[in-house]
Amino acid sequence: MKTTQTQRLFDRIESIRLANVTKKYDDRFAVDDLNLEIKGGELLILIGQSGSGKTTTLRMINRLIELDEGHITINGQDIMGFDPVKLRRNIGYVIQNIGLFPHMDIHDNIGLVPKLEGWSEGEISGRVEHLLDFVALPHETFINRYPRQLSGGQQQRVGLARALAMDPPLLLMDEPFGALDPLLRRQLQDEFVRIKHEIGRTIVFVTHDIDEAFKLGDRIGIMDGGKLVQVGTPEELILAPENELVASIVDADKKFKHMDTLRVKDMLSHLDDKYIFESGMGVDQALDRMAVNNVEIGIVCDGSGLAGQVEMADLLRSRDEGKTLEDIAESSIVFSPHDSVAMALGELKDRGRSVAIVMENERPFGLFFSDEVLLKLI
Ligand code: ADP
Ligand code: MG
Repeated sequence: MKTTQTQRLFDRIESIRLANVTKKYDDRFAVDDLNLEIKGGELLILIGQSGSGKTTTLRMINRLIELDEGHITINGQDIMGFDPVKLRRNIGYVIQNIGLFPHMDIHDNIGLVPKLEGWSEGEISGRVEHLLDFVALPHETFINRYPRQLSGGQQQRVGLARALAMDPPLLLMDEPFGALDPLLRRQLQDEFVRIKHEIGRTIVFVTHDIDEAFKLGDRIGIMDGGKLVQVGTPEELILAPENELVASIVDADKKFKHMDTLRVKDMLSHLDDKYIFESGMGVDQALDRMAVNNVEIGIVCDGSGLAGQVEMADLLRSRDEGKTLEDIAESSIVFSPHDSVAMALGELKDRGRSVAIVMENERPFGLFFSDEVLLKLI
């Protein structure tokens, strides 16, 4: 049990808003009238060329740099109202070449802030051991080593463990894997994908590597000359780049150069029984089944075949109205296995849908999820 509890400014992040945020050095804008909302629980990437204002933006959130104009709020509270030290202890910060203290062993490096917060020795050791194991450094082996006895990748993991020491609801990461060689970088990215879900935190992550951005990010914000040019999901950026710069960063043409030759049948998802619903089924029963099977869409079939589709969100709106799926099913977008993937993605996008049914011989044969297909193409 902890004897001391760090004062939490926020238990979880609902949202972070940057409104008209500006930072100037002399008369040059490092960040220029930036507006951005970061949603609680998401991993938002900031990407852009060197000097585009990524680091400055990140450091204004934890007040390592004070903004000149505009406002940053966390859960609706202006960060200027917080004590900066307390604010930073509620925000994990990971940087490239992490800067571990060379004369402290790993235990003391990770345990530094808990110690400053007055935790007992037992509490600190327990936390450090847990965190080392979490970042895949067995604590028996590593806890008493010094930074120079660790490889670059291992030091970077210690950096992450240190940032997590106070279990912060928000993590800021500035090119954390940037200094690593490509193989190691990929390995740490893979591990990070794994622990991202376990951490369950809101993360703002700076990189200049678009592959890293696609691999890790829920949404990606593209910066240029201190401005946020566009922010969106990988899919949105690729399909609707705001300008040439965005198109070149996400490399829209290259990503899709194979698309003309790909057919829907190459990219469809198997039509598992869990997606099939009888048209006479009641809404509540259907919701139950969706919850159990972890699906958000149902293909509604009646005696003669496909009757349409229902989405969980629609079902939720029609609860307790005594309706059956037949009453609320919407007509589906239907493709043939031989349609081109490019056409299929374009049509889904135009109609604001994310899934289509692939029919063969007038029977449902598979599903075509645009998100999934795009991820496979990236
Ligand atoms: P990025 O992280 O995208 O590479 P930065 O946010 O570090 O970019 O920098 C944005 C711009 O602000 C750059 O042009 C940089 O030279 C300038 N800048 C950053 N910090 C300072 C500073 N302390 N003094 C003067 N100019 C700075
Ligand atoms: Mg930077």
